[in-house]
Amino acid sequence: MKHLRLRQALIATARRMNALGINQGTSGNVSARVADGLLITPSGVDYADMTPGDVVVMGFDGTWHCPRAERRPSSEWRFHLDILRARPEFGAVVHSHPTNATALACLGRDIPAFHYMVAVAGGESIRCAPYATFGSAALSKHALAALEGRRACLLANHGMIAAGADLATALALAVEVETLAAQYGRALQLGKPKLLSKAEMKRVLANFAAGYGYGSGPGAKSR
Ligand code: 13P
Ligand code: ZN
Repeated sequence: MKHLRLRQALIATARRMNALGINQGTSGNVSARVADGLLITPSGVDYADMTPGDVVVMGFDGTWHCPRAERRPSSEWRFHLDILRARPEFGAVVHSHPTNATALACLGRDIPAFHYMVAVAGGESIRCAPYATFGSAALSKHALAALEGRRACLLANHGMIAAGADLATALALAVEVETLAAQYGRALQLGKPKLLSKAEMKRVLANFAAGYGYGSGPGAKSR
C-alpha cells in the first residue's frame, strides 16, 4: 500500500492524541503532507479500530481516494487541505477537542502572553478563530487567519488546531497549547493574570528561534 509508514504514523498520532487526554472518542482528526496533497483520518471512525486502509489520500484539488470504499475523509478536510497548501513549512496538522482549550474557546478568548511558553505557538498570543460550522469553508477561512504567523489556534465553541513540520511536532504542540489553556484557566480563577510585555515576548521568541529552551529538540528547525 502506498504511504504505508505514514498511514501507520497518522493512526498512531490519532490514538496518542486520545491517550494523552487531549481528545475524546472519534472527535478530532489528523493529516500529513504527501506529494501534491495529504493523508487524512477518515470521518467518524474509532481510532482504536483504524487500519492503514482506512486512511484517505487527498489531492490539493480536493479529489480523494480510500482503499476502503465506505470511508469518507474527515469532515474537516477543508482546513487541513487549506493549511497544508498555504503553509509549506508544515508537514502535519492535528485538530482536537481538549477540555481546557475548548473551554476558553467557548468564551471566544485568545490565550494572551500570561506565560512565556505562549511563544511556542509562534507569537505573543494564541488566537481564537471565530465560530463557524464544523467542516465549513468559513471555518477554514477563520482558522487560516488565526494561524497567520502562528502554528496553533483555538476554534470558538469547538476546539484547537496545531501544526508542525511532522506529526510528532504537531502533536507535541497540541499538548503544549492544552497545558497553557489549563494554566491560563486556573490563573483566571485566581484573579487577573499579569501579562508579559511585547518586548519580553519578542525576547522569548528570539530565544526560541535561536534554539534555546523549547525548540532545541528534534524538529526544532521548523518551529
Ligand atoms: P471527523 O470524524 O469527521 O474527522 O470529525 C471530527 C471533528 O472533530 C469535527 O470537527
Ligand atoms: Zn472538531
